[in-house]
Amino acid sequence: MSRNARQVAENLQSVRDRIAAAAARSGRSAEDVKLVAVSKYAELDWVRILLDLGERDLGENYPQQLLDRSTQFDASVRWHLIGSLQRNKARKVLPVVSMIHSVDSLKLAATLDRLAGELGLQREVLLEVNVSQEASKHGFTVDELRQDWEQFANFQSLRVCGLMTMAPQTDNPEQARPVFAALHGLRDELNARSTAVPLRHLSMGMTGDFEVAIEEGATLVRIGSALWEGLSSTNG
Ligand SMILES: *Cc1c(COP(=O)(O)O)cnc(C)c1O
Repeated sequence: MSRNARQVAENLQSVRDRIAAAAARSGRSAEDVKLVAVSKYAELDWVRILLDLGERDLGENYPQQLLDRSTQFDASVRWHLIGSLQRNKARKVLPVVSMIHSVDSLKLAATLDRLAGELGLQREVLLEVNVSQEASKHGFTVDELRQDWEQFANFQSLRVCGLMTMAPQTDNPEQARPVFAALHGLRDELNARSTAVPLRHLSMGMTGDFEVAIEEGATLVRIGSALWEGLSSTNG
């Protein structure tokens, strides 16, 4: 086994262990939390090692990189788009992606629904919520989502199945806790209001804060850096 292969295996084991421990602290099992391995900084060789270790869910930020990379691996990979999607890229991305985490407006959702319909596809998406109200972040405000909520029931080809957020970047993951708790609270509030659009998923938590996110109910964690630590470039 190459040095990189050993390192990826070690990183993955550590991430899996930490996910399982955090899930146990929140009274859940590790199977209730899915790892989305964010491959945006990873070389293709590193991603191949991860796939050989059994991971199947890969997350990319940029639609073009997702499209390029989707041709490099076999069709068993489930691609998650976690970054913003311009409407002009949507038609190309929809056939390839298995879940879009970053639907940040009703208008984008309507476009995706129409295009998915034209392509004969059904797609699961998450709504990105700017819980922390940072100007630099995309997403619905909590109030916008409360207002627009019922309209997501009208889509034919798009199934809204959860919420996504990013916490502010800090060195202290405890500062992310109120943001994650607020997203969980919002999901429960909306589910209690209507069963028209059942929200199952909470996509929250990255390398710096995924354990806190799991303690607060995350069902999908998007982890990049922790998987790729200590690897050396094979591209020279
Ligand atoms: C890059 C990125 C991640 C992964 O970040 P790490 O800190 O490397 O784990 C997760 N979610 C989104 C939206 C990202 O852009």
